[in-house]
Amino acid sequence: MQLPEITKLDDHIIQVKIAMSYPLRWVNSYLIGGTTAWTIVDPGPRNPENELAWEQVLQELDIPWSALESIVLTHHHPDHAGLSGWFQERTGIPVWISKVAWSEFLRSWGAGNTASADLVEMFGNNGMPQDITDLLPAHLDSFLLQVTPPPVPSFILPGQAVMMGGRSWQTIETSGHAAGHVSLYDPQHKLMLCGDAVLPQISPNISLVPESDPKPLASYLEGLRQLGSYEVEQALPGHRRPFGGFRERTIKLLEHHEERLNAMLGRLEEQPRTGYDICMSIFSSKLTLHQLRFAMSETLAHLVELEQTGRAIAIERDSIIYYESAKH
Ligand SMILES: [Zn+2]
Ligand SMILES: [Zn+2]
Repeated sequence: MQLPEITKLDDHIIQVKIAMSYPLRWVNSYLIGGTTAWTIVDPGPRNPENELAWEQVLQELDIPWSALESIVLTHHHPDHAGLSGWFQERTGIPVWISKVAWSEFLRSWGAGNTASADLVEMFGNNGMPQDITDLLPAHLDSFLLQVTPPPVPSFILPGQAVMMGGRSWQTIETSGHAAGHVSLYDPQHKLMLCGDAVLPQISPNISLVPESDPKPLASYLEGLRQLGSYEVEQALPGHRRPFGGFRERTIKLLEHHEERLNAMLGRLEEQPRTGYDICMSIFSSKLTLHQLRFAMSETLAHLVELEQTGRAIAIERDSIIYYESAKH
C-alpha cells in the first residue's frame, strides 16, 4: 500500500492526507507536536486501509504510538472523527470534541438513534419520491463501520483553549456545516485549523438535519463572519490544501450563499415548489445517492432561511411542504 502524502508545514505541524471517497478524495489530518508528544486533529474515516496508512505514517515519521497524547476532533462527521475510537482503544489517549458535536455523534450513531427514520420522514415531507427515500436507511447505515468503535469523549468547553504541540490554540465553535464544529486558532503564528467550516475551492455543505440546528444557514453565515474577523496567515482546512486569503474566502462563501438564496427565490417566484423540486432544478440531476442527500439537505437549509427571513412561505398540502415566494 502506498504511503499517504505527508507534508511538514513547519517544525510542529504535519499534514497527512488520509484517503476517503470521491469527490473529496482525502481528508487532512494534522499531527501537531514537538519532540516528545503529538496530537492528531481529525484522524479520518475508519477502514482497514486507513488503519494501515496510520501505521505507516507513524513509522515513517518515527513517532512511537506512546508519543501520541491526544486526539482533537473539529466535528463529528465520519471522515473526521471515524478513527478516533480506534486510536483511543490502542493508546488510551483522550479524544477532545465539543459537547454539541458529541450529541450530534450520538444522534447519528448512538444506540437506538432514529436519525435515518427522521431523515426519511423529512425528505419525504419535502417531496422526495419514495423510491429514493427507501434507499436512505441502508445508505446511512453504511457509514456506521467508519465510526466504530465510538470514542469515550472529553469535552472542549466553549471558549476553552486547547494545548497542542506546546502551543495554546483558541477554540471557535460555529455551526451550519455541522453543529458544534470547532476551529482552532493559534494567535501567535496566525494559523487557523478550520476543519470543514471554511474550505478552499469547495463550498462546505450546509445541512438541515432533523433534531439538530433548525436554522443551519443562518448559523453558518454568522460563523463565517465570526471566523473572518480573525487575522489568519495560513488556514489549514479539512479538505484540499492549506491556503492563504482566509478572510477573503469567508466573504466569497457569504456571497455564494446569498446568490444561491436568490436563485432559489427566483424559482419560487415562478410557482410554489417542494424542496425536492428546487433541489433538482438547482443541482445536477445526475447525483449519487450520497450527493443527493447532501444536495437535498443543503436546499432545505436555504429554503428554511428564506422562510425565516420572511422571503418565502411554507405551506403544507396533503402532507407535502411547498415553498412559495412571500411576494405573491
Ligand atoms: Zn464535515
Ligand atoms: Zn469533511
